Amino acid sequence: MNFDLTPEQDQLRDAVRALGRRYGHPYFVAKAKSAEHTTELWHEAGRLGYLGVNIPTEYGGGGGGITELALVCEELAAAGCPLLLLVVSPAIAATVINKHGTEEQRKKHLPGLADGSQKIVFAITEPDAGSNFHRLGTVARRDGDDWLLTGRKVYISGVDEADHVLVVARTEDASSGKLKPALFIVPTDAPGLEKSKLDMEILSPENQFQLFLDDVRLPADALIGESLDAGLPALFAGLNPERITVAAMGAGTGRYAVEKASEYTATRKVWGGRSIGSHQGVAHPLAHAAVQVELARLMIYKAASLYDAGRDLEAGVSGNMAKYAAGEAAALAVDTAVQALGGAGMTTEYGVATLLGAVRAGRIAPVSREMILNFVAQHVLGQDKSY
Ligand SMILES: Cc1cc2nc3c(=O)[nH]c(=O)nc-3n(C[C@H](O)[C@H](O)[C@H](O)COP(=O)(O)OP(=O)(O)OC[C@H]3O[C@@H](n4cnc5c(N)ncnc54)[C@H](O)[C@@H]3O)c2cc1C
Repeated sequence: MNFDLTPEQDQLRDAVRALGRRYGHPYFVAKAKSAEHTTELWHEAGRLGYLGVNIPTEYGGGGGGITELALVCEELAAAGCPLLLLVVSPAIAATVINKHGTEEQRKKHLPGLADGSQKIVFAITEPDAGSNFHRLGTVARRDGDDWLLTGRKVYISGVDEADHVLVVARTEDASSGKLKPALFIVPTDAPGLEKSKLDMEILSPENQFQLFLDDVRLPADALIGESLDAGLPALFAGLNPERITVAAMGAGTGRYAVEKASEYTATRKVWGGRSIGSHQGVAHPLAHAAVQVELARLMIYKAASLYDAGRDLEAGVSGNMAKYAAGEAAALAVDTAVQALGGAGMTTEYGVATLLGAVRAGRIAPVSREMILNFVAQHVLGQDKSY
């Protein structure tokens, strides 16, 4: 058993940490408050190769795995820049295209995803399906060689900054019963595709959208893979990377919050010469949060190494557990940090309450804590499915 990163992974972690710190949380917050995107950070990370660490070298990537991408997600978040689009574009879209796309699709999209010049976001959630994606109502029907897509999606992140959206649909002849998904790469400016920005209580430079697809016409090669049979494995291919990287983002955010609070409580003095951190009522909740974050990190890197070793089923269990643990740990860490900072905790300047919305959302998206508990109850504990 080995808990050490390789020297290359160590170097990557240090380099990403340095990049993240150069931008920092004030940059992230300023972009969010002025309704701008973190374009400079994204492009610099792309130029330095951090967005493509998991993409094969023949398509311009670093040739690493989800472990490397998790390190990137964690370190940027630990510097106060939790970029959700890392989870969507390099983790989900690049994995799906790399593993199940055609050679043409790989050549067309992966180099741009690797250098950050292209973003592909991901649309599965629907207003009437929610957690139950067997109920997806977005339908793809053939029209000659073309496809026509009709349906609605909701809470889709980053549509305003992406070139394409990877849409999960079902084919017309499979509109009921068990889902046989078909995935399409849809240009965000395709005629018939409308987006409407949602007002979310999350301070973030990344936005969520409702999408309306009204007979969006797509060429045959917009379908992921050589045939409709690629749909289900393609959809599942995205799930483990999504859970592992979003968990890494949560753990990084937790580290950031604990670190901020610890710095503050070690120096803040309101009772004579002793720091407030010397009081166990302040220090223990922070120490508890630090333990939870570190436990989540263990499960994240276990899941990542299982995934990179091709052990998908085991990675599925660990990835779900990691996502659950990191979601809870991040929410606990940020809330505990706010409390430890007192009034300062609620200011923008101290940069912890600014993360409350994001970590709260991390217990819901991209898969809720309840759906993970359902998964664990069913697949680990052998319980009957109740829904
Ligand atoms: C910030 C943010 C970004 C997002 N980005 C994207 C994106 O880019 N692309 C995308 O496709 N989606 C995205 N989502 C959507 C997200 O994946 C969904 O919100 C999530 O899967 C839950 O679906 P829902 O909101 O419809 O909740 P529902 O399915 O309506 O569930 C509501 C509540 O009921 C619980 N529940 C439902 N069924 C069960 C059950 N059987 N047992 C126990 N509890 C249950 C859920 O856990 C939840 O707490 C995003 C959401 C947020 C908040």
